[in-house]
This record gives sequence, structure tokens and C-alpha cells, in this order.
Amino acid sequence: MSIQQNLHSTKAQLPKNVTLVAVSKTKPIASLQEAYDAGQRVFGENKIQEMTAKWEILPKDIEWHMIGNLQRNKVKYMAEYVHLIHAVDGLKLLQEINKQAKKHKRSINCLLQIKIAKEVSKFGLSFKEAFEIITSKEFSTLKNIRIIGVMGMATFTDNQKQVQQEFLTLKETFKQLKKDNSAFEIISMGMSGDYKLAIDCGSNMVRIGSSIFGIRNYK
Ligand SMILES: *Cc1c(COP(=O)(O)O)cnc(C)c1O
Repeated sequence: MSIQQNLHSTKAQLPKNVTLVAVSKTKPIASLQEAYDAGQRVFGENKIQEMTAKWEILPKDIEWHMIGNLQRNKVKYMAEYVHLIHAVDGLKLLQEINKQAKKHKRSINCLLQIKIAKEVSKFGLSFKEAFEIITSKEFSTLKNIRIIGVMGMATFTDNQKQVQQEFLTLKETFKQLKKDNSAFEIISMGMSGDYKLAIDCGSNMVRIGSSIFGIRNYK
């Protein structure tokens, strides 16, 4: 199947309110161009240098989403153009994003990554930590960022019940945090292997790579 066909069959399964982030990490420009030509405008990458190299070449109406864990010293390379940063996991990082956004006289949208998986390797904040950030004095002084929701990754397991539990936890976390931040609107959860379940559990943004672009050899 071509990228175009994969894209169309994936999109056909998404409800209207669900945004598809086509995860193009490790894939060559030609693959992104093919998805673009098929109408896709939202792309996700997990390395800032790679995303910036692609941004420089590809059409400027693409929305670039940073979905990977961030090194603070690299935020400056994407501050000019990034549309949404998914994996924010601390106040220091938010301060740096705010600083860089300000230099470009813009505001950058962010999601807080919440740790829902049992695996120790997965990043993210607890509900309490996320709550402390959005209600903190420091956060209220950051005028060039907006936190507009949450992101999470479920445990890599065949146990559907467990994955469902984790997604429902993220949905509940979103609901609770939204009480203190009316700008909350996005729940980014679901990848190639689990996006249908994620949507059933309340996701409105899915990050899908391999079922569109084919399997990756690394990363
Ligand atoms: C790679 C990646 C995805 C996409 O994974 P697929 O299984 O290829 O769909 C989604 N989210 C994050 C954070 C990723 O790093």
C-alpha cells in the first residue's frame, strides 16, 4: 500500500473531532511530500534538528508537532515555527520555551506529558506535579506559552485492559486539570497499535507513524 492509501484508510477510521498527527520521524522528505500531496498538513517529529531540516525544505503551511522528549538547549531551533510541543514535563522547560517564543514575538502551544504507563522508561508528570505547574505563580508569569492539554503514552503490552485503564486515567487527568485551566482542549493519546482504543477512551489527537509511513528501522 502507498503512503497515500495508508493515509486515506487511517483517516477514514477517525471521527471528525480527532486530529491526525502523521508521525514522520526517520522518514525521508519524499515520504512527507507524498503525504502532503495527499492532503496531510500535520506532521510529528521527535528530534528537533531533523524536524527543522524538514521544515526548511517542505511547504510552509505544514503544522509541525514536536512529540519527543526535549533538551532545553535545543528549543531555540524550533521556536520560530513549531505549532505544538507534546511532551512538556517541567516548569524549567516551560520557562525556556516561553523565553524562546518571546524572542520570536509569538506564543507556543504546549501539552503536559502525563505518566500513565507502568514502565519506568516512560517519561511524564504525575497528576499532582501537573496540577502544581498549572496553578503555580511562575507559570502565571509565562505569557508566551499556552498549555492546551495533555499527552500520554500507554504501556507497550498486549493487555488491552491495562492500556484502556491507562488511557482512561489520562482522560480523567485532563478533566481534573481543565477545572483550573479553561484553555485545555487536547488529549493527545493513541499510536498505530492502539489509536482506536485511545479514541474510545476520549482521545482527540492521535499520533500515527508506522501505519502510514511503514515500519521504521531505528528510533
Ligand atoms: C514514534 C512515536 C509515535 C508513533 O508511533 P507508531 O507506533 O509508529 O504509530 C507516537 N508518539 C510518539 C511520542 C512517538 O515517539
